[in-house]
Amino acid sequence: MKNIHCKVFGHDLRVSKNVTLHVKEYTCKNCGKQFTTSSNGNLVELTPKFKEINTVLEKIHNKRLLRQQKLYPELLVFRH
Ligand SMILES: [Zn+2]
Repeated sequence: MKNIHCKVFGHDLRVSKNVTLHVKEYTCKNCGKQFTTSSNGNLVELTPKFKEINTVLEKIHNKRLLRQQKLYPELLVFRH
């Protein structure tokens, strides 16, 4: 029954995780299906393969942020 709602009205997506500034993971509030932003900016189903990619992206992104904060501590001021 839940899936019928999604078929008629489309998925009711909520951001479940920010992977990077541009890549996010979404979960449908209705059916629980997960989606993510693919490399070309489209929404795709969150398959184990994409989950893996996102984990790597997230690590790279966090590392980059940490390095930026060390090199440019003043960036922190702008961020808050
Ligand atoms: Zn749905």
